Amino acid sequence: MNYIQFEYCGAPVQIHGRVHSPHPSLNDSLEGELQDFLTDEDQLHTYDDLTKVNPVTPTTVLKCLQARYSVKVFYTHAGCTLVALNPFQPIPDLYSLDVMKEYHCAPQPKEFKPHIFIVAEEAYRNVRGQLEPVNQSLVVSGESGAGKTWTSRCLMKYYATVAASSSVVKSQNTVERIERRVLDSNPIMEAFGNACTLRNNNSSRFGKYIQLQLDRCQLLVGASVQTYLLEKTRVACPPDNERNFHIFYQMMKGATDEQRKEWKMPRGQRFTWLPKSEKTLEEDCFHETVEAMVHLGINAERQRQIFRILAGILQLGNVNFSSSADESQLCNLDEQSKAAELLCVPAEELQTCLRVRTLKAGKQSVLKPCPQAECSMRRDCLAKVIYAQLFEWLVTFINNSICADESMWCNFIGVLDVYGFECFHINNLEQLCINYANEKLQQHFVAHYLRAQQEEYVSEGLQWSFVKYQDNQSCLDLIEGSPVSVFSLLNEESRLNRVSDTKTFRTRLEKELCGNANISWDKFSKEPHFTVAHYAGKVNYQIQGMVEKNKDPVPPELISLLQKSDNPLLHQIFTDKETENPTNKGLSKVTVVSKFKNSLESLMRILHTTTPHYTRCIKPNPDCKPLTFQKEEVIMQLEACGIVETIHISAAGFPIRASLQFLFVLDVETDSNGILRQEVEKLLSVVLHKAFDLDSEKHNSWVHCGRTKVFLTQSMVNLLEDQRKKIL
Ligand code: ADP
Ligand code: MG
Repeated sequence: MNYIQFEYCGAPVQIHGRVHSPHPSLNDSLEGELQDFLTDEDQLHTYDDLTKVNPVTPTTVLKCLQARYSVKVFYTHAGCTLVALNPFQPIPDLYSLDVMKEYHCAPQPKEFKPHIFIVAEEAYRNVRGQLEPVNQSLVVSGESGAGKTWTSRCLMKYYATVAASSSVVKSQNTVERIERRVLDSNPIMEAFGNACTLRNNNSSRFGKYIQLQLDRCQLLVGASVQTYLLEKTRVACPPDNERNFHIFYQMMKGATDEQRKEWKMPRGQRFTWLPKSEKTLEEDCFHETVEAMVHLGINAERQRQIFRILAGILQLGNVNFSSSADESQLCNLDEQSKAAELLCVPAEELQTCLRVRTLKAGKQSVLKPCPQAECSMRRDCLAKVIYAQLFEWLVTFINNSICADESMWCNFIGVLDVYGFECFHINNLEQLCINYANEKLQQHFVAHYLRAQQEEYVSEGLQWSFVKYQDNQSCLDLIEGSPVSVFSLLNEESRLNRVSDTKTFRTRLEKELCGNANISWDKFSKEPHFTVAHYAGKVNYQIQGMVEKNKDPVPPELISLLQKSDNPLLHQIFTDKETENPTNKGLSKVTVVSKFKNSLESLMRILHTTTPHYTRCIKPNPDCKPLTFQKEEVIMQLEACGIVETIHISAAGFPIRASLQFLFVLDVETDSNGILRQEVEKLLSVVLHKAFDLDSEKHNSWVHCGRTKVFLTQSMVNLLEDQRKKIL
């Protein structure tokens, strides 16, 4: 009896059974086998790996996913990635403790049904590595509402359970188990960074990379979080039919009478910046947020300071300006003084800051009253800068609270939850940054997976024509390259000390980038825009307002005002920000794209040092309806994340590597003279020839014997597995 043990993507998978004696009834040709394979639609839901679908086309992949969704199977492997379909309803027992334990304790988790816990467990076991420990990254992607944040939470819960160290941390009179704290960072960051949007009623408005720190025994001893590009404009301008950040509504709903009084937030009070929308998160999470704050060590006094700042922002939103001949009059002084009181700044000074611009002419300052629109802009800017800095402070606080001492941890598993590719009716700088990040991640994915695979083929001495894949370097060059790119031109325009001019920027783009095939213009369009051909599709970007958004200017008077605040937290978060000196790189001097590019580059540097695992979340319908699968929706997302290409790469390659030592239980320990290799080649050749009438030329596309491994396509394994089942 011979046993065969496969190694799949690094993890051994055992298939027991005789493989060398073909079943006598199997005289059909290979084509016949494949035909069944193709058309047996009743069986499509049983394909737990999309590489088994044959042929791999958008339609067959879609059919398979749909078939699985209809029988409530939400996870499917796609070669080296996992596809997760959002059920949009709680699935009982799918993520229970027992299920976690099952996957964690399984000798071969991969033999179980596809699940996010397989990815989690694989990464966990990979940390140990063969020679030395390797850090891991779990990259979760997908469009808004697809389930990225849910998946990231699941992964964190998994590690908090299976790798619980039960060590305690103490800060500010609270003692907590570290895994509890790590999990408690989620509700806080979601309260401050998530909002109800048209696409998802708990949409994360920032990107996040959390590194779970493991000690020598692979126990969770801490974590650190890095966040990206919070959508701060939402604070002052929530888009139509969407809402502001959850925390404001939580306060409105959950405050005690005493707090309402303190926050000047009586029942029924209307706030301009708190629009209602049809979609809402019904639960009252205020209590949960406050509890999480307590667990993380944010004491009652700090909480008070935080909530007063937030209440102050809400009051600012109710401050309006009316225009008289040459200057704006504050028309509702009451709101303005309430805002000043809550922000603990002098009321008159707040009023002046909002209404008067200070121009520096040499050593002299000239005061210039602002027109109405500018006053509103300054008010919005004040709210945005306060909120963004408060969020940053919170993230730093969370890090201080959950990060383990360097001597305590030696490896990490990183979980990346970033916004997916975006293409809206109107796209601006935010979408350009988001899509640029997706281009970077796609490049990393392709490079990592193909490079790793192809390097192995070379070292195994395989003659193989390498898979061609879409290289998106030229698109990245267009966006971020040097000397000339969209970012470089945008930065040049932004650094010029002049009023931002859409026309100049447009002309420069057209002139400097006209030879680039990745960018195009519709010269006749009334709305000036440019179109970028991303790997996931073409996106039109509006030019109007882009330079200003990139500058993201904060009038220095506003910062000086906040530095004078008697709210110790507000005072603290603004005291370090230098604004007066125009030559420094203070709060207002680093452009948005430079900052984003830098943070993304440091993320990519970290990712490159880790072994990545990709999960592609798919949103089966745009209305978040439970168990509803809309083909057009899904196919667009499959295209956007290049899943068909991924499967092709996986299927065209040899994802199954059976190492020679494992292939047969033989007495041979070593194979220095190549006898074992020849035996294996001979045996597989017999199987293929006798059972499927395959000539030796065709063998090569199914099986390759390398120096130490046998490479099998998924189809080959399926056939062998079929044989095994028939024999048993
Ligand atoms: P994203 O982060 O990709 O924008 P979320 O993770 O917030 O999306 O998911 C949107 C919503 O979908 C969640 O609030 C939840 O209701 C639902 N959801 C996502 N994944 C699952 C899942 N595996 N099981 C049940 N519901 C889910
Ligand atoms: Mg999210």
